[in-house]
Amino acid sequence: MAGTSRDRTARRLRSIPPTVFSEMSALAARTGSLNLGQGFPDRDGPSPVVEAAVAALRAGRNQYAPGPGVPELRAAVAEHQRRHYGIDLDPDTEVVVTAGATEAVAAAVLSLLNPGEEMVVLEPYYDSYVACIEMAGGVRRPVTLRAPDFRLDADALRAAVTPRTTAILLNTPHNPTGSVLDVEELRVVAEVATEHDLVVVTDEVYEHLVFDGHRHVPLCTLPGMWERTLTISSAGKTFSFTGWKVGWATGPADLVRTLTAAKQWLTFTNAAPLQPAVAHALTHEAGFYEALARELQDKRDLLVAGLRDLDMDVYLPQATYFATSDVRRYGHRDARAFCQALPERAGVVAIPAQALYDDQEAGRHLVRWAFCKETHVLEEAVRRLLAADLRA
Ligand code: PMP
Ligand code: GLN
Repeated sequence: MAGTSRDRTARRLRSIPPTVFSEMSALAARTGSLNLGQGFPDRDGPSPVVEAAVAALRAGRNQYAPGPGVPELRAAVAEHQRRHYGIDLDPDTEVVVTAGATEAVAAAVLSLLNPGEEMVVLEPYYDSYVACIEMAGGVRRPVTLRAPDFRLDADALRAAVTPRTTAILLNTPHNPTGSVLDVEELRVVAEVATEHDLVVVTDEVYEHLVFDGHRHVPLCTLPGMWERTLTISSAGKTFSFTGWKVGWATGPADLVRTLTAAKQWLTFTNAAPLQPAVAHALTHEAGFYEALARELQDKRDLLVAGLRDLDMDVYLPQATYFATSDVRRYGHRDARAFCQALPERAGVVAIPAQALYDDQEAGRHLVRWAFCKETHVLEEAVRRLLAADLRA
């Protein structure tokens, strides 16, 4: 049945385009292209973890989990933070399980921002950040990470803070640039946050997918930062179960309570039988993500070498699933035009990173390529790109 032509979408959502990741995955499906767009692996995580989920389903763990998450997962998250970073957490008050990192970010933003208040955010950004800030009635203040190095510019960060700023939303390791903020950069964030009494929400979903001996340092471990930091992660990237949507936020009890004030009204709780399986993964499967990081580093090298053979400027990521390249010399107006032509020209899909910037000039010619795919898929993608005419 035809609807009326009136757009009934609430005004605060109208300015936000549909997520580029769904758009590009639909394009890949429609054109039968290799999908180097949306970041999800094409091989599942460890089978003992799947078995743990099956066992939980069969054992009748199918009713609502407790609001903060099942006790064994909260304990496993606390133990993981202790083992990797020396962070001591009370699993009863300082951990909350969420529907992926996405819900944790949404709940953090919705619970921290009053309408009109500002959140400083690194751009290019993971697109849900923009939507969440809009839904909260807040204002984003982007700080641009610029090619070729995509480092945090301390002056730009300082300049982005105003008397209306409530919080900083950080993402390290960073999607899409692959930058891992180093201790100097984190110190600047800590200084700014402390000076202006800001909360920092850090999205660390790629914490284990780090290459070349770089080290991820959680911001909350810097002096004075524990009490003002909410740290977010997820089983999606660490264990290659992106469809499970089991994430968590950790931090001081008062901030976890604040986040939960919104979270309880979003999903209340999620994925009861998957939560014990993720607890099992955190406790027994560290070997999986260590091996995954090594494999991804090889895949990064394969893809980056292929893109360089195409005579593109490619920026080597220190972490994550993604490499970024500048496609200017192919003569397209912008990355979007390049990416829209790509399925027909080469049978490959990639993400116009432009969609992840407010500063269109900084992102106009940048394309993000996912390398969390089987080696033969990456090899075939490179073959197709080399054989194609990519010029406008
Ligand atoms: N944050 C970043 C930076 C991401 O790249 C992703 C990826 N998908 C998410 C959050 C979402 O995580 P989840 O699937 O656990 O919601
Ligand atoms: N985080 C993944 C990416 O950046 C997937 C995100 C999504 O589909 N919402 O591609």
